[in-house]
Amino acid sequence: MLGLMMQRKLLISEIIDHAARYHSDTEIVSVNTTGGEHRTNYREVRERALRMASALAGRGLEKSERIGTLAWNNYRHLELYYAISGQGLVCHTLNPRLFPEQLVYIINHAEDRVLFFDQTFLPLVAAIRDKLNTVASFVLMEPQSEEIASEHPWVEFYEDLIEQGNSGHAWPDDIDELDASSLCYTSGTTGNPKGVLYSHRSTLIHAMMSATPDVMNFSARDCLLPVVPMFHVNAWGTPYAAPLVGAKLAMPGPGLDGPSLVRLFNQEKVTISAGVPTIWAGLLAELEKTGEKLPYLQRTVVGGSACPPSMIAKFRDLYDVEVLHAWGMTELSPLGSVNNLKNKHLEADEATLKRLRENQGRPPFGIELGVFDDDDNRLPEDGETSGNLYARGIWVMSEYFRNEGGEVLHNGWFPTGDVATIDAEGYMTIRDRSKDIIKSGGEWISTVDLENLAVSHPDVAEAAVIAAHHSKWDERPLLIVVPREGVEIDEKKLLAFYEDKVAKWWIPDAVKIVDSIPKGATGKILKTSLREKYAGLLMDN
Ligand code: AMP
Repeated sequence: MLGLMMQRKLLISEIIDHAARYHSDTEIVSVNTTGGEHRTNYREVRERALRMASALAGRGLEKSERIGTLAWNNYRHLELYYAISGQGLVCHTLNPRLFPEQLVYIINHAEDRVLFFDQTFLPLVAAIRDKLNTVASFVLMEPQSEEIASEHPWVEFYEDLIEQGNSGHAWPDDIDELDASSLCYTSGTTGNPKGVLYSHRSTLIHAMMSATPDVMNFSARDCLLPVVPMFHVNAWGTPYAAPLVGAKLAMPGPGLDGPSLVRLFNQEKVTISAGVPTIWAGLLAELEKTGEKLPYLQRTVVGGSACPPSMIAKFRDLYDVEVLHAWGMTELSPLGSVNNLKNKHLEADEATLKRLRENQGRPPFGIELGVFDDDDNRLPEDGETSGNLYARGIWVMSEYFRNEGGEVLHNGWFPTGDVATIDAEGYMTIRDRSKDIIKSGGEWISTVDLENLAVSHPDVAEAAVIAAHHSKWDERPLLIVVPREGVEIDEKKLLAFYEDKVAKWWIPDAVKIVDSIPKGATGKILKTSLREKYAGLLMDN
């Protein structure tokens, strides 16, 4: 017997329709690429998204064709998220920090038909456009400008398309919830980037779950500032989750430096934010320098790479901000786990609570995690046994776009490439990326643990630990550090700092002091390039 309930499709357009109906005047503030700020609301975003959808429909694009975006977090990008997916097209967010050749590869591979871009990226688009085989229209996300039009006659203007669009347009009704809605390529360190193709259904369920209290905890009382870019796994789903609950949005545009963020946080009374540790390190340094506080910010989601416990402590002790340590990846939309306590923890003492909050947390409903050995046997979840972390769930990818890389699942599980432990309560700790972990004399050493300790040292601004070749042990840890401004690091003292904190044989063999550590397109440390440079260092000695 079937249940007798209405069957409504889980479509992305439903989110903006709901927000426009019940949170019509809730603000979206954004920092413009060309300077200044812009204020709009959910009613206007929906109206303009529909106009844009109608303009796109007028170009004869067929269902599921890809539309590229190269843009910061701003209101026009938000409109495009809804216009493109709402029209049944696929919103393909592009990471402008990739090398131009990688962008060319990705745009051609995805067969993008239209490319929307912010003014910052005009020179980039001008330089690569001849190599883009499928893009028929290049749209600058600004009003008409005679100057630009005369210099770049191939450019169309966003506001012209909005004007051409029909204000009476309705979302097409031939879209299924299983249809593709957006596309994001992962910047794998080996091989070509691969596309992850999300559906309306996976995106909606991910957004609904991410807003729940034990996950990111978003409500209509919040003002959310996604620092994580809209080209990095859909800004972790925040552009869907915020309108879904009716939260106010503050969009930082290109201003991701410490001073710009602090100003926007306090001016817009931001209550919750989300971003990678490197961004927060910059923000905390800025606050330390100026003595400013964050009186409105209540919590921030930190993920994308391991959040050092010293950062969690700083946010809590100095700024009264709760860190929600989260783990995820492009293939998981990205949410895999978030650290929040359980009822049974409420009585725990301070020290236990601190320790409990440091790991990457537990999966929400919709995701299951497991640790496995190299033969796909499930390992015990005892908090001690390290294994390959696998995931399965409602918003986990089943294969890459165009089946790149072939069959990726192992018995229905997605192998994440991370090495982790899981405890009996389901709390997961990332020990390493499987390709970064150090194997010293056959035993594993976690680079994450060594890096977390290094950045808790007062003289260290940034740190990375890599596996360096070693004649006796195969690999030994090498610590690479950027000192804090104006500080000279004493290598011996820095290594002595590890002494009572890790097993003796975990202590790095040497320290390499550098001016900066290279980062990839999503702000993560590029260990491959560090290894290329320094992996031979212990052998040379
Ligand atoms: P991406 O698909 O670019 O978001 O990268 C996903 C990878 O980032 C994961 O497989 C992890 O290696 C790493 N990562 C994400 N969040 C965390 C975290 N909280 N702690 C440690 N590593 C993380």
